[in-house]
Amino acid sequence: MKTFKSTCCYCGVGCGVVVTKEGNGQLSLEGDKEHPSNKGMLCSKGMNLHYTVMDQSDRLLYPQMRLNRSMPMQRVSWDDALERTAAVFKTLIKKFGPDSVAFYVSGQCLTEEYYLVNKLIKGFIGSNNIDTNSRLCMSSAVVGYKLALGDDSVPVCYDDIEAADVIYVTGANPAWCHPIIWRRVEAHKAANHDVKIICVDPRKTDTSRSSDLHLQIAPGTDIVLNNAIGRILIEQNYIDQTFIAEHTDGFADFREKVMQRTIAEAAELCGINAGDIYTAAGWIGRSKGFLSFWTMGLNQSVIGVNKNLSLINLHLITGRIGKPGNGPFSLTGQPNAMGGRETGGLANILPGHREILNAEHRAEMEQFWNTPVKIANKPGLTATEMFEALADDKLKAIWIINTNPLVSMPDMNVAEAALNKSRFVVVQDVSNRADTVKFADVVLPAAAWLEKEGTMTNAERRITHLPKAIDAPGEALPDAEIIWRFAAKMGFGDAFNYKNTSEVYDEYTSCTAGTSIDVTGVNYQLLKTNRSIQWPQTKSQNNNTNTPTTGTKRLFTDHQFHTKNKKAQIHAVPDENTSEPTTEDYPLVLTNGRIRDQWHTMTKTGRVAKLNQHTPQPFLQLHPEDAKNRNIKEGQLAVIQSRRGEVRVKVNITEDVRPGLCFLPMHWGKILGSNLARANNLTNNLVDPKSKEPDFKFSAVQVSLY
Ligand code: SF4
Repeated sequence: MKTFKSTCCYCGVGCGVVVTKEGNGQLSLEGDKEHPSNKGMLCSKGMNLHYTVMDQSDRLLYPQMRLNRSMPMQRVSWDDALERTAAVFKTLIKKFGPDSVAFYVSGQCLTEEYYLVNKLIKGFIGSNNIDTNSRLCMSSAVVGYKLALGDDSVPVCYDDIEAADVIYVTGANPAWCHPIIWRRVEAHKAANHDVKIICVDPRKTDTSRSSDLHLQIAPGTDIVLNNAIGRILIEQNYIDQTFIAEHTDGFADFREKVMQRTIAEAAELCGINAGDIYTAAGWIGRSKGFLSFWTMGLNQSVIGVNKNLSLINLHLITGRIGKPGNGPFSLTGQPNAMGGRETGGLANILPGHREILNAEHRAEMEQFWNTPVKIANKPGLTATEMFEALADDKLKAIWIINTNPLVSMPDMNVAEAALNKSRFVVVQDVSNRADTVKFADVVLPAAAWLEKEGTMTNAERRITHLPKAIDAPGEALPDAEIIWRFAAKMGFGDAFNYKNTSEVYDEYTSCTAGTSIDVTGVNYQLLKTNRSIQWPQTKSQNNNTNTPTTGTKRLFTDHQFHTKNKKAQIHAVPDENTSEPTTEDYPLVLTNGRIRDQWHTMTKTGRVAKLNQHTPQPFLQLHPEDAKNRNIKEGQLAVIQSRRGEVRVKVNITEDVRPGLCFLPMHWGKILGSNLARANNLTNNLVDPKSKEPDFKFSAVQVSLY
């Protein structure tokens, strides 16, 4: 019997787990009581995580390829698969240039994997065409943090929960989607009855039901609400004049903007009582610790960056940042979305939070990597742009790693047409359940969680080491090894000559020296000893103490931000929503989201019987008035239509949604062999102009009885 300490690979909470491997190979799992993020607690998904690696019935076991898509896949050797892929990439790059190829990766990837793919395409192939499914998830938060604080830096930590007396949860349902964080919030509230929880959500959820105040706003009115709260904070003198004067810019414009709308107007637009806005503002204004949490309700929006800024503004005008219990906390969806951001895993950034558009930053990485080419001076294609470019034949080849875009991308017509038309598709995945496999020219089997070694960073900047505990089945290889083997086939073997992922990690950490996320003081040995470390953690932090610290709990405690003049920027953002308008033909707004026991496109959780019991079938939540107008009864099959496509699922009639709003879970792709439960048949390709994050949460639809 052997035990291993690892991290749950579902969500960004990043709970520590202890896995026990019995002599007969059976695995069992429990929460790690010593891990500071979860202190032994696990949610239903985490508790059942080991079943996803014990059941190997859907695993991709060996490399496969075919010479054209009308031929069946053939089993081939790793050398053959990677040599053919390298030959196709070299031919396309020679004929059409480096921007003819792209990598589309995942927040499931480990930090080392992210780093290697970035190094390969940005530093050696000479294109910035790498983006991640995190683009669909938190890129609006990244841009929001950068514009307001000067860097993509989450200022807070989970311990701020217990130090806060007002917790403002907006566009999020952590009770289901970040359950361990929510258990800490609930425990804090139970022990301190004066703590106030405010939930902002167009739907009633388990989070809103355990809140003191639910602001059930109309979809798309988040900025109207935040600006109205800002106005009250100014009018009732709850703002911190000294902090504003010494540590921020932009307050005068902000004040002018929020004064343009009365609280009565704002309440009407939001569809809530003006009194509730005053209550929320009063609680925030009088609080000592004001902590805000948000996720996709703010991020997945055509105005997602402005929604983020409108929330961060509330912290800046009250000076509620960089102090225990205070700050804006973006909850990341994926387990290692943060690690991806750190290593440059988006089309517009480089490792160490460097920027593609910054010539100095490019030069630093060119020198660090000793690149044979100049790093391209323009951002690469983002997630949705990649699929549009494939459909237009501007992009010739895509390599998809550990993500399932044929369920998760918006407007499935575009994504499907793109893969149909694409010249060359490589799918690197664990499971044959990924819908992309049938479009692949080359399939590469990847090792899963517990079958490979690496690191991840959770939502509170906490880096944890994940050991290899079991062997991968068949010929599956760790993703990092697949990339370094491929790089050698491309002729870059000298720069990708790694023996293990520890060497990759050490290389990555050295390139962060002197940056805002300096982790030169972190290595595998330290992570194994300390269990986890919050960045930044510099080498000098280690050398100055005999016992290495556990990193940096909070950022901006000196109120010196990462902007040029060290001041945070308050933004006067417009409050109009620019989503697809509803019409007579499409009069309802469709929003989507998660259910408690499923994860993303269900390739893992869908295989665990216990998790399927909670909500076995997809459903549409519809308000009683909207159901009555359409003569639809509870449980009947309805067809939901948008300008792009349709979905057919049973209806759940409930006042949990506002009149005019309906809700569909995002998880299901196929059901009974058909794609008719796939939420993204209905969503559209609108994106936020700054973050390029899609407007998943707002689609105009009609619902009728099938
Ligand atoms: Fe895993 Fe997230 Fe649940 Fe923690 S809260 S056990 S990280 S799914």
